[in-house]
Parts: sequence; structure tokens; C-alpha cells
Amino acid sequence: MAESIIARCEAKGLRLTEQRRVIARVLESSDDHPDVEELYARACAVDPKISLATVYRTVRLFEETGIVEKLEFGDGRARYEDAEREHHDHLIDLETGEVIEFCDPEIEALQEKIAARLGYKLKGHRMELFGVPAKRGKRD
Ligand SMILES: [Zn+2]
Repeated sequence: MAESIIARCEAKGLRLTEQRRVIARVLESSDDHPDVEELYARACAVDPKISLATVYRTVRLFEETGIVEKLEFGDGRARYEDAEREHHDHLIDLETGEVIEFCDPEIEALQEKIAARLGYKLKGHRMELFGVPAKRGKRD
């Protein structure tokens, strides 16, 4: 498993106040894709003195230093996840907003092939699929 967010912050020389540490821990323990409001609610549960502005600033700092990744799922809300999580792609349910994570070896291999065909070595990609359930109340 990757180093903790706090350890990565320290390695990058970021000054970590107690409130930033709380936000770092909240991000680390999130296995979904919270937006700033959600992060604020979770951080407040730990330390009620944390302000929304502090959460905004801290998340922006973490994003700028590559510690978290910013995701946009087409609803205008920026969401965040730990940049060191294992690679995966996202499928967004347009009816419920639910985000489903997946990783498909065929897609991964196909992307490598496309990049190679175009004369590139692939260093990363991002993919978001948007859909509605094919059958209501059923998914497989
Ligand atoms: Zn994800």
C-alpha cells in the first residue's frame, strides 16, 4: 500500500497544522469520491472548529502537490480521491449519481496499443463513462 497522505505531505515539505492533518486523515479513510462539502462534514465530525474555507484551501493545496486527484463527473461538483489509490476508471449513473469503479485489462491494453500506434508511450489516462441502468433495479 502507498505511503499515507500525511507522510507524502511531509516528504513534499508541506506544513501540516492539526486541521490539515484531520483533513488528510478524512481523505485517506474515504473510499468514495467526496466533494468539498462532504469532506467538510466529515472533518467537522472530528474537529467542529474546522471551517469550509480551510477545507477548500487544504484540498486545493493537496491537489496542487499531486496528493489528491480532482475528478469531474459532469455535475459541476469537483470531487477528490487519494491520487495513490490503485488505478481504476469510473462509471457514473446519471439517474442516481452513483459512481461505480472498475478496471478492465482489455481497455488498459487497448489504450497502450492506441498510444503505441500513434508513436507514444502511455503515461496515464482518465476515463469516465456515463450511463443509465439498462434495466431498472437490475445491474450485472
Ligand atoms: Zn475512484
